[in-house]
Amino acid sequence: MRAPSGRPLRTLAIAVSLGAAVVAWAPAPAAAADPSPAPSAPALAPAPAPAFAAGDPLPACTTADDPAPFRRYGEWASTLVDTRFALPRAYAPPDLVSTSNAGTNGGYLVRRLVIADLRAMVRAAAAAGVRIRVDSGYRSYARQAAVYAYYVDLLGPVKGALRAARPGHSEHQLGTAMDIRNTAGAYTWLARHGWKYGFVISFPKGMTSISCYQYEPWHIRYYGRTRAIGMHWAAAVPRAWLWAHVVAV
Ligand SMILES: [Zn+2]
Repeated sequence: MRAPSGRPLRTLAIAVSLGAAVVAWAPAPAAAADPSPAPSAPALAPAPAPAFAAGDPLPACTTADDPAPFRRYGEWASTLVDTRFALPRAYAPPDLVSTSNAGTNGGYLVRRLVIADLRAMVRAAAAAGVRIRVDSGYRSYARQAAVYAYYVDLLGPVKGALRAARPGHSEHQLGTAMDIRNTAGAYTWLARHGWKYGFVISFPKGMTSISCYQYEPWHIRYYGRTRAIGMHWAAAVPRAWLWAHVVAV
């Protein structure tokens, strides 16, 4: 700590490690050396997501706008969105329905494929004396831009970015994530039982460096029961689980 001569070495080490990371994560240079005109493609065709190799370590929570791995609508249980990986601006699932279809309050939208297990979870919680009420569901890119701007204005850029995702980076845009109201016992019940119905807490306590966001006991994402059980028994942060089991495999 005291030897000034150590600084250049440390800087070098960081530079080398950053360099290695860049090499590891950079997408293959897509025919950049080819001088011939690119074949005509739709202007809005999504850029290919970077390719990752088995065993690649979980990336740090960097700020970027790389295309999210597994971002087709049918890949909803595998889509990885975080501070680095983003959904396209136009991403809006075609099968959004009101949460009232699940026997809880309406006013919010989720994908239809969430409804059956949400209904089962609401019923099971009610049987235990806990009311599950929705506070937020699907959010468009534009809506998320407003939410993000609100929290940055309220908390400043650093804390705001830990509380709300930048537009394109929110799980709410997937249509499979919800915020649940803080009714008596709801968050404790969700943490203990939500996974049995396919719902997992995305940003657990004390895991900000892995989840990229502050602890949010209210924010759950639907993965389906099989995947949620796997995450629960692995005691894994969903982002790390997706990385290890779906993306870097
Ligand atoms: Zn949320």
